[in-house]
Amino acid sequence: MPQATYSELLDDPMWKAKRANVLWLADYTCQECGAKDVPLQAHHTYYESGRLPWEYEDDVFRCLCVPCHNYFHDVKKSIDRLIGGLGCRTLERLKVIVCRMETAERMARPDRDETVDKILREVCSATRLGA
Ligand SMILES: [Zn+2]
Repeated sequence: MPQATYSELLDDPMWKAKRANVLWLADYTCQECGAKDVPLQAHHTYYESGRLPWEYEDDVFRCLCVPCHNYFHDVKKSIDRLIGGLGCRTLERLKVIVCRMETAERMARPDRDETVDKILREVCSATRLGA
C-alpha cells in the first residue's frame, strides 16, 4: 500500500477528531490574535519524523486562524534560512534565548500546567550550555 500524502492524512477521521479537540480546547479562538468566528486550524508547534499528524499530545498544538497560521510558517521559514549557516555554539546560545522566551510566554498563559513546565525543563537541559 503506498504511503498516504500529508493532505490525505489530514482527511483521516483520526486527524479530524484531533483537530476538532484542539479547536474545542481553545474555545474556538485563535490563540495568537484572539479572533473568533473565523476559520481556525490546528497548528503543530513541531513535527517529528515517523509520527502521524494526530499522534501528538494536545499541548503540541495551537489553534490559529488562517492568517496567523500562514504568518507563523512564513516567519519560521525565514528563521530556518537565517540560522542554517550558524555554528553549533551560536545555535546553542540561540536555543537558550528561545527557551527563555518560550518559558516567559507559556508562564503567562492561563492554561499553564505542570506538563508544560516539565517539557520546558527538558528542552532547556538539552543544550550543553543549560538554561
Ligand atoms: Zn489569528
